[in-house]
Amino acid sequence: MTRGVALLGSTGSIGTTALRVLDRQRHRFHVAALTAFANTQLLAEQASHFKPAFVGVVSNGGPGHDCWRTGEGCLVEAATRDDVDIVLNAVVGAAGLDATLAALEAGKRVALANKETLVMAGDLAAAAADRGGGEIVPVDSEHSAILQCLAGRHVDDVRRVILTASGGPFRDWPAERLARATIDDALHHPTWRMGRKITVDSATLANKALEVIEAHYLFDLPYDRIEVVVHPQSVVHSLVEFVDGNVLAQLSAPTMELPVLYALTHPERVPDDGVRPFDPVACSPLTFEPVRYDQFPALRLGMNAGRAGGAAPAVFNAANEQAVALFLQGRITFTQIANAIESTLAAFAGAPGDTRDALLAVDSDARRHVRSLFSC
Ligand code: NAD
Ligand code: MG
Repeated sequence: MTRGVALLGSTGSIGTTALRVLDRQRHRFHVAALTAFANTQLLAEQASHFKPAFVGVVSNGGPGHDCWRTGEGCLVEAATRDDVDIVLNAVVGAAGLDATLAALEAGKRVALANKETLVMAGDLAAAAADRGGGEIVPVDSEHSAILQCLAGRHVDDVRRVILTASGGPFRDWPAERLARATIDDALHHPTWRMGRKITVDSATLANKALEVIEAHYLFDLPYDRIEVVVHPQSVVHSLVEFVDGNVLAQLSAPTMELPVLYALTHPERVPDDGVRPFDPVACSPLTFEPVRYDQFPALRLGMNAGRAGGAAPAVFNAANEQAVALFLQGRITFTQIANAIESTLAAFAGAPGDTRDALLAVDSDARRHVRSLFSC
């Protein structure tokens, strides 16, 4: 019997990547549900190819798609269906939160690309998984690498994990040039083709801050055992140093197809030949550099928010989401993204954050604060 997959965010970068993998693995998985925000044309093409029992679109249901579910609630509906074993959450941003929590509560495996969910509400997600028997398996390439290197070892065997960061398009830009970075500059990632929001996050290094917090919750690791190193080639996806001094790493050419497949099959490995064989010579040289924290303040701000806990990670995430949206609308500059995050954390990091409603309240306060900073 094939396992049912609900793919939330099927029209995005991870969503379309996942469908390529699922198409090759039809003998193991079937697409039980698809959801998207508004791209009805692509969603309709996907639905006619994969024939899921459920299709949901948040807005733009439109004529001709009468059997589709519409509105925000379609994500939770898709994620909790009886014919769904695995929820691949590839939604971008806080919008994915309720579906992740509901899926965990319903005992599903959540193959999680939507890292913002875990950053906002890591404790709530763990509690939902405890209650419902669900589990999170990461899709993010760094966390997939760590999971594969851990290979079932207990976290007490780990001295530290080292997350790799490509450094983004501005890795070697001087500070004064960063202040003039354009939207096109920021969207020009050197190694990955991704959605616009995460591409900007990779340019500010806010993405790596989100990933440090994600690693903390996924692997139950204290922050002082999570480090970041710049690795421009994006071939070594992360490293794990064990207490005996041995270091394991996971390598591949940069493609999200491998971590998507592993999140579906973990802890098993299944044959798949969709990705070209690894060629170490073609990937050479592999280099590593320290992070330039002063040039990319969003990384430190996010790591500190993670350490602070409570509502602070959710505030960091919301401020970042709102500031990136304003940057992509051409309303603020690249360096104002980190300024906005800093101001918002100063105002709201101490707010209550122990329930979903408290987190959603602080999320909207943080977004409002960012807009007010720039009179938007
Ligand atoms: P994307 O913008 O390409 O796609 C986002 C998807 O989410 C789309 O299908 C869109 O319809 C849907 N969506 C957007 N807003 C929504 C809303 N309010 N409600 C419901 N659905 C909504 O983004 P992406 O690059 O595919 O990234 C998705 C997630 O995966 C992000 O959390 C990102 O950080 C993470 N991620 C992406 C990559 C990558 O290579 N693209 C790698 C690692 C992690
Ligand atoms: Mg990543």
